[in-house]
Amino acid sequence: MPLFDRYDVVFAGGGTVACIIAGRLTQADPSLKILIIEAGSHSFNLHHHVQPARYLNSLGEGHTFSHHTSVRSEALDGRSVCVPSACCVGGGSAVNFLMYTRASASDYDDWEKLGNAGWGSSSLIPLSRKVETYQIPSGSPSVHGLTGPIKVSHGGHETNIGKEFLETAGQYDKERRTSLSADINDFETINVYGVSLYIDSQTGKRSDTAHHFVYNLENFDLDPNESKHNLHVLTNHRVVKVIFQNNRAIGVEYVSHEDVSGQTQSQPRIAYASRLVVLSSGAFGSPAILERSGIGSAKCLAEVDVRQIVDLPGVGENYNDHNRCFAPYLASEDSDCLDGIFSGDEEAVKPHLKEWEEGGSGLLAHNSIDAGIKLRPTSEELEELGPAFKQLWEDFYVGAPDKPVAAYPQAVGYTHITSATNPWAPLRFDPKYLSHPADISILKWCYKRGRELARRMRSYRGEIAAGHPKFHSTSSASDSSTTASIDSFRSGPVDMDAPKIVYSTEDDKAIDDYLKATVGTTWHSLGTCAMRSRESGGVVDSRLNVYGLVNLKVADLSIAPLNVGANTNNTALVIGEKAFLLIAEDLGLNDPLAKLLKKAIEMKIKSMPVSSLSSVKVDVEVFNFIKPS
Ligand SMILES: Cc1cc2nc3c(=O)[nH]c(=O)nc-3n(C[C@H](O)[C@H](O)[C@H](O)COP(=O)(O)OP(=O)(O)OC[C@H]3O[C@@H](n4cnc5c(N)ncnc54)[C@H](O)[C@@H]3O)c2cc1C
Repeated sequence: MPLFDRYDVVFAGGGTVACIIAGRLTQADPSLKILIIEAGSHSFNLHHHVQPARYLNSLGEGHTFSHHTSVRSEALDGRSVCVPSACCVGGGSAVNFLMYTRASASDYDDWEKLGNAGWGSSSLIPLSRKVETYQIPSGSPSVHGLTGPIKVSHGGHETNIGKEFLETAGQYDKERRTSLSADINDFETINVYGVSLYIDSQTGKRSDTAHHFVYNLENFDLDPNESKHNLHVLTNHRVVKVIFQNNRAIGVEYVSHEDVSGQTQSQPRIAYASRLVVLSSGAFGSPAILERSGIGSAKCLAEVDVRQIVDLPGVGENYNDHNRCFAPYLASEDSDCLDGIFSGDEEAVKPHLKEWEEGGSGLLAHNSIDAGIKLRPTSEELEELGPAFKQLWEDFYVGAPDKPVAAYPQAVGYTHITSATNPWAPLRFDPKYLSHPADISILKWCYKRGRELARRMRSYRGEIAAGHPKFHSTSSASDSSTTASIDSFRSGPVDMDAPKIVYSTEDDKAIDDYLKATVGTTWHSLGTCAMRSRESGGVVDSRLNVYGLVNLKVADLSIAPLNVGANTNNTALVIGEKAFLLIAEDLGLNDPLAKLLKKAIEMKIKSMPVSSLSSVKVDVEVFNFIKPS
């Protein structure tokens, strides 16, 4: 049981965003009583969280993820997909692939144009600086931070194959630049190959929000029963719903993992919050809690027999992600390789342990993601993309030169609950992958480009046939000189100036079929409690308050009203910093007058004999009065 009966602020979910807000609130006012209720376990100093190369072990660990299986989709030829979301303290920041990319400035400006004052790039870029220490010397201080908690570097190792990829890209792709020193994350640069990672170059450790906002707090205790701290983290418990007094959120109902066997639950408990309840359970968790609390569309709530409290049809809608297609190739024997570490083989880890522990370097301080690019097509390439994409290009991309293609799938999905009471029940979920024709055009183009690059690398030894389209054996696209199967893979690279593979209509169809059979998540779920006007399907306003209710906010990636052209952790960090400012303001922590007065009262109390303490009552009342409600 947590120590207090009543908290000032209760968080449902202890992921990426929640750790930032809770950690910063605690630092701003250590007397605040804060409870985080998190579905997963602690991640403190566990190797599969903090050693960057182990992130795939973590993906395999049953306890650190929740798995969401979609309905079967016509657009995927009847296939369903599984989208995992993080389930541990630190959330996605503690389990993700450590890729550091930032949104385009125009993404945040688009958010602001929807009516969200204070959410444009001019407001959010400073917060993106505040949260980070950019350890790469070439970063511009106008867009990168030098003193924030989250460390960003190139990681502790440069692989030979990563270097070779960049060299090949530089020689082959003359339209674009390759550079490890170029800043590809300044909110506007596109068409430059490079990479940055959430790895501390000093320690070689993953840089996540649990370790850098919560676990590092002075006197913080993992066990709330033992804690003398005012910030408590209760792990392995799930929030079922918010409880209200009239329209005011006064706490949450939660259950422990052990309480649940199948559909039945033992007695739920209540954590009271006198000042604020914050839902921070991510793009799947937060809309589910709202729906179980009676907030959502009449139809969705009626299906699970939940009485509606507030009619918000946008809850669980507007699901966005990015589309993934991994095409595997074989590499020469001398290529640096993380296969052993990825497979969880401890013997493969051992040779690298000393270097990581002593110098924060070596393969363990790396994630095998050696390069990336925010791509935009040349005018010639635009023709290759076909008519479905061309229309989108005209309507959406031409006016936003900082937006990479492939980062804004047009298909938008949904996630809704199937049980009124069980927070472990599967969701009714459809990400709608590839249900818009432009989405498949862009992936097809990316597949072809990647193939041309891969087969020009010195270490190229062919394709792993099972991970590629099934071209007809007579097609030039399946020529064994370009597509050796795993059995006949001994073919090496082609010349840099070899002609591009020509694809017939039948080949294109084979790629479409392959994409429908393999497309998956990039784990970038967002948008399901969108920050928009209520009339346009919004769930929260621009201060993150849930419409129609008091003392209830949502703060996580579910509030993103539109997708961003990047991996999403950075946007989660920015939302965390912004939400902290809004909440601190609501609680009166940012008000300099209130702060001064509070300090004066505290000093006065300390210096007064107990008998005269009643005389501070009037001051306290003044203090309460000037605090914004
Ligand atoms: C496998 C994976 C790889 C990724 N790779 C990258 C990458 O390389 N680069 C990048 O930028 N981004 C990446 N991302 C995305 C990024 O990490 C996420 O977008 C971001 O962390 C989301 O933050 P959040 O706070 O919205 O949600 P989360 O961090 O997911 O936090 C939500 C938390 O709420 C908890 N929760 C859910 N329901 C309940 C409930 N009912 N009660 C209590 N707790 C609950 C969950 O357990 C979770 O800990 C990846 C994500 C994943 C999962």
